[in-house]
Amino acid sequence: MPRVYIGLGSNLAEPVQQLQAALAAIGKLPRCQLVAVSSLYASDPLGPPDQPRYVNAVAALDCALTPLELLDALQAIEREQGRERKAERWGPRTLDLDILLFGDLQLDEERLTLPHYHMHARAFVLYPLAEIAADLVLPDGQPLQTLLANCPFEGLERLDGGDRPAVTVG
Ligand code: ATP
Ligand code: MG
Ligand code: MG
Repeated sequence: MPRVYIGLGSNLAEPVQQLQAALAAIGKLPRCQLVAVSSLYASDPLGPPDQPRYVNAVAALDCALTPLELLDALQAIEREQGRERKAERWGPRTLDLDILLFGDLQLDEERLTLPHYHMHARAFVLYPLAEIAADLVLPDGQPLQTLLANCPFEGLERLDGGDRPAVTVG
């Protein structure tokens, strides 16, 4: 089964609980096995600055769904948790679930770009990802550690202890 990495984010309606609920739902996806979850991180928002900070994490999943089946399932979880899609780009949201990597797949389709088009430049993606996959090499051959070296730990804060997702993994 391909190893998939999912980026989670929330900045509305109790973000830590939103992420915990999303991780529980991801853990129940058919033909998938949740294998690891990073710590939670607080991050400064992309886009409009007049919105709360985000809480982010990255999860690793072994997944026998097709990429579009997984996208459908993740978007269903977003909707279930009250995600509203507005015209404003990168506006506040209860839950964002992005597929960062789907094994070594490289895809450029209308609904799905893999790897996620902007993951290489996002500290709130790269640092949690490195926690659970330090030796990862991207499909284009770039080691995750090279991306990290070019992406400062800026606007990011690791939330420890009680904020770790209460999810049984494995
Ligand atoms: P960004 O993609 O910059 O993080 P966003 O997550 O706020 O922004 P969304 O509104 O959640 O963007 O998603 C917009 C569309 O992006 C989705 O409808 C989906 O079809 C598409 N998309 C393309 N590639 C991916 C991917 N790798 N993971 C999730 N959605 C993707
Ligand atoms: Mg996103
Ligand atoms: Mg998204």
